[in-house]
Formats: sequence, structure tokens, C-alpha cells
Amino acid sequence: MFTSSLKTTKSEEIFAAAQKLMPGGVSSPVRAFKSVGGQPIVFDRVKGAYVWDVDGNQYIDYVGTWGPAICGHAHPEVIKALHDALEKGTSFGAPCVLENILAEMVIDAVPSIEMVRFVNSGTEACMSVLRLMRAFTGREKIIKFEGCYHGHADMFLVKAGSGVATLGLPDSPGVPKSTTENTLTAPFNNLEAVKALFEQNPDQIAGVILEPVVGNAGFIPPDGGFLPGLRELTREHGALLVFDEVMTGFRIAYGGAQEKFGIMPDLTTLGKVIGGGLPVGAYGGRRDIMQMVAPAGPMYQAGTLSGNPLAMTAGIKTLEILRQPGSYEYLETVTKRLADGLLQIARETGHAVCGGSISGMFGLFFTEGPVHNYEDARKSDLQKFSRFHRGMLEHGVYLAPSQFEAGFTSLAHTDTDIDRTLQAAREVMAKL
Ligand SMILES: *Cc1c(COP(=O)(O)O)cnc(C)c1O
Repeated sequence: MFTSSLKTTKSEEIFAAAQKLMPGGVSSPVRAFKSVGGQPIVFDRVKGAYVWDVDGNQYIDYVGTWGPAICGHAHPEVIKALHDALEKGTSFGAPCVLENILAEMVIDAVPSIEMVRFVNSGTEACMSVLRLMRAFTGREKIIKFEGCYHGHADMFLVKAGSGVATLGLPDSPGVPKSTTENTLTAPFNNLEAVKALFEQNPDQIAGVILEPVVGNAGFIPPDGGFLPGLRELTREHGALLVFDEVMTGFRIAYGGAQEKFGIMPDLTTLGKVIGGGLPVGAYGGRRDIMQMVAPAGPMYQAGTLSGNPLAMTAGIKTLEILRQPGSYEYLETVTKRLADGLLQIARETGHAVCGGSISGMFGLFFTEGPVHNYEDARKSDLQKFSRFHRGMLEHGVYLAPSQFEAGFTSLAHTDTDIDRTLQAAREVMAKL
């Protein structure tokens, strides 16, 4: 299977050992390269737009540790700030001023967030926000969309994206029916389906949660009327609108998708970028709703390491870099060049593709498209994607090892990196 011109002896050794120690040899499923075949590259270090594996191969990286590395890996200012913070200790378990600073930055940036609670991952943010949706409305049902991923909590493992989609898994064993019977699903970009669910479940739906731009079923932007339509429908039915901006927050605009599309959700989840590469998640929104969270209110949610000083430091420094003028214009330009270039080369070399980009997020499907939802995305030629992925790897380009994951650029990606990537794509696509 793995007939590579890359020297990967050490990666192979380490991954073989890992498979005896950890299920599938990894700490998170998609990393195992199962859907693209071959075996994963074991990383040694990361810097700027590049990663190096344990065999010394260098790659241009479009995964960016799944989103957080938006300023480039190991940004010197982030590393310096972390060194300084480290001297003061690694965990407090008590209030610290760094939480205020990051909270203020998040509240200033994200239009709908008036108060915020920090947690340790996107999963934790989403499971907490779900509890809050239910606590606030006194209703139990929620609507999510097929192919959207909101972390691995039981209630969300219904028609989920990311690794669940990548591995083609049915809804996970171990998730009791009783925890998902209140999870209703609709196809993304389908307002009629959402309307029907509201009509079939009067006064029972706590809210609608979605990735405002899908990244976990591949890259799928919202159709023009979709987000405004959801805002209207939820308001009409006394339900909450929740944007899961764990991926899009501080990525497709400083204020996330809600700023980009001018839609005010009631609640928002964040993660990835706001941790600057350390484990952080957050949820926030309207003050009257957030006041329900303990100890201000009765809805319980807690965390030993939440608000961790190192994680807050990396987040603060990352947002400071991002908020400098021109950051998002740069991401937009560099990413569009990449996405447009890939589409053009694919078409010139005779492949049916579709895709696009918004700011530092992009995607390419091996299907004519258009892709409006997960069902459309699944029409992609996955075999072709696998060969493309492997070919790019051998040409020194590290793409997400799944058709059902968006790609990410960073402030560290230069025009030269894009040129080299497109040159590699031209060679690989010609032989697909
Ligand atoms: C990554 C992601 C999550 C889960 O975050 P983790 O930190 O991996 O738990 C949730 N929602 C979205 C939209 C994500 O992209």
C-alpha cells in the first residue's frame, strides 16, 4: 500500500510501536491516515508554515494543527510569552488576570458575546453550551446538521462530521439511544427541513446548533439566505441559535462567521485559534443566558485546568498578532490564490472538482458539485482524493488526510509556498 519515494523509516517504526500502545496508534482518529491509506507521518517539530517529520522530511503544512496555528507554528512572540508565563507556574486553579484579558479580547471581537466561560476543548465548549441551551429554554430537543461536528459528546454523535465522516462510521456504539433521541438532524443549507422539524416539535426545541461555515464535512459555505433564515426561524419559535465557531472563530474573520455574515447568534462556542496551540475552548453569548452558568446561576459546569495561565497566554498573544491591520486581508489573498490555483490545475488536468475558500480556510472536493451539504460532499471520488493526498505528501505538502476536513493557511504562508504547492499539485494531478 505504502509505496512511497519518501524516506519514512523512523515514522514507520514509531507508528508501529504506537499501535501496540494506543488504539490505532493515535490520540485522535483522523491522524491515523486510515481513509487515505498508507501510514501517517510522525512529526518532530513545527515552525511557521512548515512541519518536519522524524525522518527529516520537510512539508508545507495546510493542517495547522487543525486550525490553531493561524499565525504560523511556534510564532516567536507566542513562544516568548509562554516562556515568561511558565516562570510563574503552570496551573493556578484560582482566578488569574490573564482570564480577564482574554475574556475582554473575545467579548470585544465576537459581536454576540457579552460574557464568556473558558473550558479546555471544543468538545467541552459544545457539551456545555448544549446544557445551557436546555437550561435556559427548559426544552430538551436540539437541531444539528448532517456532517457538522460539535466534538465527541454523546448528544452530538448523530450524523457527525470530522473523524466520524472520515472513517464512514455509523453513529458510535456506546452512545445510548436515550442521549440522542432529542437530537434532530437536517441537511445543511436546507431551511425547509428545519422549518418542518420546528412544526413537528412545537415548543420542544431548545435551539439550533451549527458550524456557520462547515469545515468538518470538507469546506461548505452557507447559501445566501441560510443563516438569516435560521435566525428568523429560531426567533419565531422561541429557540436559541448557536454558532459553533470552534473552527471559524478568529479564522474567517477576527469576529468569526457572525461578523463575516452579519448574523447575531444567541450563543457561540470557540476553541482552536483562541488557545494559540494550547488546549482551550470557550462558550459565550447573551448576558442573560450566560448568567445561568454556575456560580452566577444554577447550571453546573466546571474545570480543574480551565482558564489555565499558559493556555490563556498563548491565546492572548495569538489574538494580539491576529488583530493587527491586514491579517485577514493577507489570509484571504493567499488562501484564494491557493484554492483558485488548485481548482484551475485540476480542471486543466481533466478532473471534476469544486471548492473554494473564505479567509484562511479552504476546501477542494473531487466531484463536479456544487456541494451544499454532506450528501453532496459524499459524491466525491475518495479514491482519487487518497491518491492526491499521497502524491502531495511525497511532493512535500501536508494536507488533511481526509476529504471531509477543511484546509487551513496561516500568516506564515508566503506566495512562494503557494507557488511550490501549486507546482506540486500540477505534477500530482497530471498523474492521478
Ligand atoms: C474541532 C471542533 C470541535 C471539537 O473541538 P476539540 O477541541 O477537538 O474537542 C467542535 N466543533 C467544531 C466546529 C470543530 O471544528
